[in-house]
Amino acid sequence: MYFADEPEHVSQLRDTLRRFNEKEAPREKRREWQAAQMWPRDVFAKLADLGVCGLTVPEEFGGLGQDWYAATAVIEELCRAGMFVSGPYIQCAFYGGGNISESGSQEQKETLLPKIAAGELLFAYGLSEPDTGGDLASVTTRAHLDDGGDTVVINGAKRWCTGADWADYILCFVNSDPDGDKYKNLSMVLVPSDAPGITRQTLTHQNLIYSHSFDVYFDDVRVPVANVLGGPEQWNQGWRSLAGRSLDVEKVEVAAMNFGLAQNAVEEAWAYAQQRRQFGKPISGHQAVRHELVQARTRLEACRHMLYHAAWLIDQGRPASVETSMAKLFIGETGVEIGIACQRILGAYGMSEEFDMAQTVQDLLGMPIVGGSSNMQKNNIANRLGLAQ
Ligand SMILES: Cc1cc2nc3c(=O)[nH]c(=O)nc-3n(C[C@H](O)[C@H](O)[C@H](O)COP(=O)(O)OP(=O)(O)OC[C@H]3O[C@@H](n4cnc5c(N)ncnc54)[C@H](O)[C@@H]3O)c2cc1C
Repeated sequence: MYFADEPEHVSQLRDTLRRFNEKEAPREKRREWQAAQMWPRDVFAKLADLGVCGLTVPEEFGGLGQDWYAATAVIEELCRAGMFVSGPYIQCAFYGGGNISESGSQEQKETLLPKIAAGELLFAYGLSEPDTGGDLASVTTRAHLDDGGDTVVINGAKRWCTGADWADYILCFVNSDPDGDKYKNLSMVLVPSDAPGITRQTLTHQNLIYSHSFDVYFDDVRVPVANVLGGPEQWNQGWRSLAGRSLDVEKVEVAAMNFGLAQNAVEEAWAYAQQRRQFGKPISGHQAVRHELVQARTRLEACRHMLYHAAWLIDQGRPASVETSMAKLFIGETGVEIGIACQRILGAYGMSEEFDMAQTVQDLLGMPIVGGSSNMQKNNIANRLGLAQ
């Protein structure tokens, strides 16, 4: 294996984003956003002005050209200040830019991608349902065609739809042929979140509190057939767009959040341990604390290698299903270990809202579940590597 320094444009991007976090997302502001369970639109607009939403959009559609490595670094850097700006970044550049670039029709690319590159469109994922989690091909939200095939009509319920109130579109994964074979009976439909027939109910949760998540009910919601992701010819082909390259990108995106959050935990504990004194010296001078911190940094370093190797494979257009699952699995589980160890180092203050730690740990605890649980990643790795069962 060959190692090299990061490309200069990525190092520059990191410097810019570190300054951005310091100026726009200091801890006192993050505490306000946390209390209100909201993300700051004005700060996101300033982020979009840096051009980073264009990192997942081809140049011909107004982007900077797809650079998944750099876009991964953006998530990592933003997450070092929590989820408040990184959440909407992902819902624009990854949910929108990733899916539309890969699977959108020419018309969808031409109309949506330039706005995504400018940070003007946000997307919510409508995948999970009350009775459907990991087994997404079993969704029961039903779609049928009407008006001689010109209109899609949707009925059913989605659960945990993050940002369903402020997203411009819900990427709604539906069963479009109840008599069809599993995996060949699914479609992805772009549904404007204010379409008539949509109602919402807020869910409460401890993690990812940059936004509310919702139960979203679809009652005879009608959208033009042109809103099928990829256009009308992709009717019943939705599994291909969900489980293709976008899934690899999704795993890397969640792993990048995870890594950024874990890094925030280590940095906070590292700084605290050198400032907090007990028994006549900084607690970082007590060997047990010292070792814990070094162990956390070592784990982080392993996560970094796995994350960026997976992102690099995607940029190279190489098969990456195994490596992206391994990265999602390893960083998810390791992130929890890092978070809990770092929280202990802060003692009582690890539970206090005066520090990021308590929220960071809540976010880390959810990471092995969201975006495909650790067990799902293990199943994928075992299947891809041909392990007999
Ligand atoms: C705050 C938050 C925000 C979210 N945002 C969104 C969103 O925006 N859009 C969206 O669509 N979803 C969203 N989700 C849902 C999330 O993606 C799901 O929770 C996740 O896919 C897992 O589904 P589940 O919780 O129903 O677990 P289940 O699939 O019911 O699994 C429960 C447990 O059983 C295990 N398990 C299940 N099947 C197997 C198997 N075959 N082999 C081994 N183990 C198995 C799982 O690993 C897990 O540990 C969000 C969730 C949260 C908490």
